[in-house]
Amino acid sequence: MDAKHTLDVKYTLGEPRVLVSRRSLLHNAGVIRRFLSPGVRLCAMLKADAYGHGGAIAADTLCNFCNDGSGKPPADAVAVASIDEATALPDLRVPVIVFRPLENAFIGRQRLKIEDAIRRGWVLTICSLSAAEDLARIAVAVGRRANVQVMVDTGMARSGVDAATLPAVVERIESRPSLKLWGLCTHFASAENADSPFTLEQARRFHAATDGFGAALGNRLTRHAANSGALFFHATTHLDMVRPGLSLYGVDPTGRPSLDRPLRPVLKWLAPLVGIQDIPAGGTVGYGQTWSARRPTRVGLLPVGYADGYPRCLSNGAKVLLHGRCAPVIGRVSMDMTTVDLTDHPDAHVGEEVTLLDDNPLSPVSVYELAKWSNTIPYEVFCRIGARVKRVAVDPEDAPFEETEAGTSEQDFG
Ligand SMILES: *Cc1c(COP(=O)(O)O)cnc(C)c1O
Repeated sequence: MDAKHTLDVKYTLGEPRVLVSRRSLLHNAGVIRRFLSPGVRLCAMLKADAYGHGGAIAADTLCNFCNDGSGKPPADAVAVASIDEATALPDLRVPVIVFRPLENAFIGRQRLKIEDAIRRGWVLTICSLSAAEDLARIAVAVGRRANVQVMVDTGMARSGVDAATLPAVVERIESRPSLKLWGLCTHFASAENADSPFTLEQARRFHAATDGFGAALGNRLTRHAANSGALFFHATTHLDMVRPGLSLYGVDPTGRPSLDRPLRPVLKWLAPLVGIQDIPAGGTVGYGQTWSARRPTRVGLLPVGYADGYPRCLSNGAKVLLHGRCAPVIGRVSMDMTTVDLTDHPDAHVGEEVTLLDDNPLSPVSVYELAKWSNTIPYEVFCRIGARVKRVAVDPEDAPFEETEAGTSEQDFG
């Protein structure tokens, strides 16, 4: 870890922050790599600010650090949802793929963004004949060839052209000298379910729709389909490249930790105590007075609320960790603040860091638990973490924060 990162870790002490372990990211990329045949490329999904982990940190780690003595960083490509997200990434030497369907090219300021994307060589996703036309025109005006991929809808009924329309779209792209067909892809609906036959049915449809183009276009196309679920459970879907997101960030696509895939959660969300007050039995806490004290209570104040992505539905329901032990959230989570019961933590003091979301998959405040409490999935827990929370690159053993004993205390698992 270099000096800048050591300073970031130090300077963000005292404010809410997310620590992002480069080492765990690289470890997860290594776990994923072991499921792939040699030659299969790895495209790191960095959309939504790398699932809330910080796009710049994740891109830098996966494209510039090496995890396995090969001398090669783990990512062969990266992908984002929008051109704006691609713009926010640092300069990278690998292909950058933008997945949002290119549409509305002549509305608002879209054209300027598309021109910039063409100049920078990013791969844009085409889901209609008219989008191919629009992009071809813009690329002519820019004076550069635009890289494109076509998304094929094989049963998700979301974005993409259907198999019957694909040949016309490919033909149109091939007929426009300003367009360069880079790849063909599809997306699975139920890949995290190892037993779902639908993934293989979608894969069969994708092959039927695209096998013919392989030979015709000189095998220069990149065909890709697999997200985290498919890459672990359906090896025949790996094709030329896989596109893991969630598993890179250390979370199992099944929604619970798995011994078969020793993924390490990358992110740890901390907030310092900024206040402690004692209230008498009978006192109430927070908006709506939804919590009242049965005993004299020490109330701890955290400067994090639903505007930071700590869900309001965790009011009176969640826990946080202090010195590896749980403290319950009491009262309503409000926009900027959350209150916790520190009565059983008599030595807690202002300035100490509390763990809202732990990087231990077995922790009582793991992302799996937070997702359950919030009635959602780990993806959404991560993506909700707000812009006010600083992202700091760190490796766990270098960080000057408390040692937690999370995961060692049986009764905390609930
Ligand atoms: C988000 C996304 C992925 C990654 O999915 P995970 O389940 O997070 O691995 C892959 N492909 C596309 C098109 C996506 O939008």
